[in-house]
Amino acid sequence: MRDLARLPKAHLHLHFTGSMRVATLAELAERHGIRLPRVLLEADPLVVPADERGWFRFQRLYDAARACVRGEEDMRRVVAEAVADDAAEGSGRLEIQVDPTSYAPFVGGLTPALEIVLDEARRASLATGVEVGVVVAASRTRHPLDARALARLAVRHAGDGPGEVIGFGLSNDERRGETAEFAPAFAIARRAGLASVPHGGELLGPAHVEDVLDHLRPERLGHGVRSGEDPRVLARVVEEGVALELCPASNVSLGVYATASEVPLRPLVEAGATVALGADDPLLFRSRLVDQYRIARDVHGFGDAELADLARASIRACRASAATRARLLAGVDAWLADDPADADAGQSVSTSGTVGSGGVAGRGATSGTAGPVANERAASPAGSGNGWSSPAHQVPGAGSSPATR
Ligand SMILES: [Zn+2]
Repeated sequence: MRDLARLPKAHLHLHFTGSMRVATLAELAERHGIRLPRVLLEADPLVVPADERGWFRFQRLYDAARACVRGEEDMRRVVAEAVADDAAEGSGRLEIQVDPTSYAPFVGGLTPALEIVLDEARRASLATGVEVGVVVAASRTRHPLDARALARLAVRHAGDGPGEVIGFGLSNDERRGETAEFAPAFAIARRAGLASVPHGGELLGPAHVEDVLDHLRPERLGHGVRSGEDPRVLARVVEEGVALELCPASNVSLGVYATASEVPLRPLVEAGATVALGADDPLLFRSRLVDQYRIARDVHGFGDAELADLARASIRACRASAATRARLLAGVDAWLADDPADADAGQSVSTSGTVGSGGVAGRGATSGTAGPVANERAASPAGSGNGWSSPAHQVPGAGSSPATR
């Protein structure tokens, strides 16, 4: 069986705060004298009975975690570790999403808040070989004029190189705000060539997807997983070439579906939709990028050729340069061409610190230290069976260890 951590892929749906390691969150909370809800540091904070899951529990925990990131050093660390963790999972391209608003008060404004993220994204790209682009995301809970200000800020840093802004998003509770009121912000971003990548069709159904399609003209939809509830809307998604950033573990943790088997991954793919798997908020869902591919394999019966197609879809839907996409796609071909027996051998190698094929994740100087991750795993129960204890998780880049930040 081929090692999914060695499959080159692009990671298109990951939030800045939600990417944090549990051990890092614990450390930051202690440093800043913040008392966190205990459940945040324990295993699987959202693994609760189906009727207790849902957005509000998630939002409360997310806000608590966000409050622990105070200042430049913390922000740089979050980015560096997110990229190192992506590198260990075969991601060759990460498009991380951030709303700089919450961090602005600690660093002197929105512009420095974004520039810190961009600068660290560039450094982490060089250190790990994962090319990192940034999505600036506005929040549905704030005034649409705030979204316009963020769009203008995003435009000033637009580009397809490492540490540049590639897209503009809209996040937070889909039931809040009027989608149409955010259209001017998205128009500003689109005119400058940024990808329109709002959330939609997660908590709400196909009518919301259509609302987003009409007003925000997305190139990709954050989730969009419920598009298929109306075949006409799904047909429109396919016809307009809108990629769906599907996050199966997130959907289950937030109670959108009771189990991973109910996430309509296969029907969406079979309908012709471009599906790019993402982790969304591994801090809260305790499920990282490779875990999403594992769900596709173990729960939905995707074979290696189909998994390679998912990876290709993620790469084609990303905003990296054509050269980067071509390099990553060649890596996918190489992964699939590898004899599975060799790949099995490679899997045992990956536990000792070598990850990546096709010249993707292993490039750059990431000799590997198990320090922070060992702490992190200690914070999770042994044998929890989720991504925190997977072999792929043992090789973050040494260049990004907290001691150097
Ligand atoms: Zn999201």
